[in-house]
Amino acid sequence: FFQDPPPSNLTASQLLDGLLTADFGHRSCQSRYEFSSYYANKTNNATSHSRPHHKPSPYLLAKLRTHEAIQRRCGQGTAPYAAAIQQLKSGNGVASTDTEECRYLVSISYDRGLGNRMLATASAFLYAVLTGRTLLVHQYKHDVGALFCEPFPGTTWLLPSPSGWPWPWGGSSSFPLGNLRDDYDGSSSSSLGNLLKHNVISVSGPQGQGNNATWADSEQRPPYVYLHLEGGFDFFDKLFFCDEHQRLLHGAPWLLMKTDSYLVPGLFLLPCFRGELERMFPEKDAAFHHIGRYLFHPVNDVWSAVKGYYGANLAGAGHRVGIQIRVFQKGKAPVQRLLDQVLSCVRREKLLPLPDHDDDQSQITSSSSSSDKDKAVLVTSLSSWYYERIREEYSKVAGGGVHQPSHEGRQKSGDTTHDARALSEMYLLSMCDVLVTTGFSTFGYVAQGIGGIRPWIMPTPDPWNMPTPEKEEAPVDRPCVRASSVEPCFHSPSYYDCKARRDVDLTKVLPYVRRCEDVSWGIKIA
Ligand code: GDP
Repeated sequence: FFQDPPPSNLTASQLLDGLLTADFGHRSCQSRYEFSSYYANKTNNATSHSRPHHKPSPYLLAKLRTHEAIQRRCGQGTAPYAAAIQQLKSGNGVASTDTEECRYLVSISYDRGLGNRMLATASAFLYAVLTGRTLLVHQYKHDVGALFCEPFPGTTWLLPSPSGWPWPWGGSSSFPLGNLRDDYDGSSSSSLGNLLKHNVISVSGPQGQGNNATWADSEQRPPYVYLHLEGGFDFFDKLFFCDEHQRLLHGAPWLLMKTDSYLVPGLFLLPCFRGELERMFPEKDAAFHHIGRYLFHPVNDVWSAVKGYYGANLAGAGHRVGIQIRVFQKGKAPVQRLLDQVLSCVRREKLLPLPDHDDDQSQITSSSSSSDKDKAVLVTSLSSWYYERIREEYSKVAGGGVHQPSHEGRQKSGDTTHDARALSEMYLLSMCDVLVTTGFSTFGYVAQGIGGIRPWIMPTPDPWNMPTPEKEEAPVDRPCVRASSVEPCFHSPSYYDCKARRDVDLTKVLPYVRRCEDVSWGIKIA
């Protein structure tokens, strides 16, 4: 720590207008204070592609500072933390005077892609801020520590050790709740849904839907509640999105949360959090933009790769176009229709001067302007095929400037080197001026959110069932649509109105909660 003192003279821009504190060393996490230099110069011109500059509100900054103090006061190595762990071990759910000042939220990581995991962590963080809980992140094979710097000064957000993994020198992990990755799912007896179903929590009204939730028997009250919030969660688990259940959860010393989604639009819909959220984010559609920039700082190895690639391939261009092509099905051969969709989007929206037909080549080449030739294209995809085709097309007019950092072939769950490449590509995309992304993809959501770029989204009506090369579909009419905001889509919201006790159209509840462009049943803030 003493060898890496905080730098002096950090500018407001380096501190992201106060989002970050100046308390960290620079050498151990270079991305934290270098990040802004890759984005600051992109806020200047007034074209429809430029990104607006979102300033965090003073209220958000105050909440972050308060939260950092909670993390320091209650985090690992403190007396309240030791007492809370003791309580967890004892199985007693009623907070004692030792433990009531600190309550905890453990975010469980599991085998989902990095984009999903980052959205889940950001959601858990915001929930922790709203509820005054200390956030501890569980790691899926050391992923968090290997990819991200610590976000809170003077403490760690990492759960003590990967649960269920024995220490090499004997004994087992110090967190007492078993294997978090595998032991908790919708059938867990400690889930909010099952506690409601089995009347451990009693709520007035039919099916636990009333407005007075209490523990049926405080003797039976568990020391923790598991929140099962992953896509496909059932009616009872979704009651998490009710004020009354939030009031009850407030008293639980420990909460475990497992989600693969961006829950934030659902938190805005909860009346008990709405006022706070609206004060924290007067520009509501910049919530992830701020949370993501506050929370995620790639470790030095990843950041060096980002800087090196950017410097060698993108920095010299006057304008950078990022194209993110995501094929969801495993082992899928290249899909001509998807390539056609990309090319058609890029042409139609005039993002790149591509020829319409091969025979137009000479005409377009001679008429393409010098600014067209000053564009660099970044393609990210698991396959190199799309990149090669796009490069062929673009070379007809501008002679090159198309780049792809990696083509990993397939998604590799639990492989940290693979995740590091994915993270660096999300950041490279976020450094572009314009983005074309594939609908449904959380990988794209992270890039657009960090960068503050409203992307052109290519709809994928049925991502899990894309056409095969043999059975091509007719090209879609509209190859891409401009996203209404930089916010990620919440793919699995609860439609249930807890007061009215019926499902409602969520897009009619608040003016800024809308249907997502890419997922017809999802909601986003815009
Ligand atoms: P989503 O599945 O598109 O919502 O995004 P996720 O990030 O959750 O999961 C996809 C995972 O596949 C990524 O985290 C990467 O591991 C891998 N992946 C998908 N597309 C790319 C890509 O363009 N580049 C790299 N390096 N990895 C990718």
